[in-house]
Order: sequence, then structure tokens, then C-alpha cells
Amino acid sequence: MTMTATPLCERCEQPLPVMARRHARYCSGACKQAAYRARKTSAAASPSLPDELTTRARWVRYSSAKVPLTPAGRAASSTDPAT
Ligand SMILES: [Zn+2]
Repeated sequence: MTMTATPLCERCEQPLPVMARRHARYCSGACKQAAYRARKTSAAASPSLPDELTTRARWVRYSSAKVPLTPAGRAASSTDPAT
């Protein structure tokens, strides 16, 4: 045998296609995507917002009159940080 060992897909362990890039790690885009997704879900289960942004009180809500509201629904003042 003079051929070098056929590289295997890192996900499904099938031999990579002959036309694959020299250092290809996956047999197909589907395997690459699946492996990437698996890596990502194990790292961060929650969507990207840091806790501080979701727990801090702030007037991010608006009534139909575009008045800023506190999360509790009361009118907030843009000059009083206590609201
Ligand atoms: Zn594969």
C-alpha cells in the first residue's frame, strides 16, 4: 500500500471524499454545521444577553404614547434614575 491513510470525518467518521480539502475535518457541510452546533449548545445554553442587562431595572418599555415605563408599568422619568 502506498496510499496514505484516508482521513475520517470528525463527526460521522466516514472517509472524507477524495475531493475534500487537504485538511478538511468533516465529510460535508452538514457534518461541519452539526458539529459546530453541538459545540455551541454545550457552551452556552442561554441566548447572549448578560445577566446584568436582563435584571437591571430600566425604562425600556413604552406606552402607546411613547412614554417610557418602568418594568412595573408605571411612567418613568428620564431625569430621575430612581424610576
Ligand atoms: Zn461526516
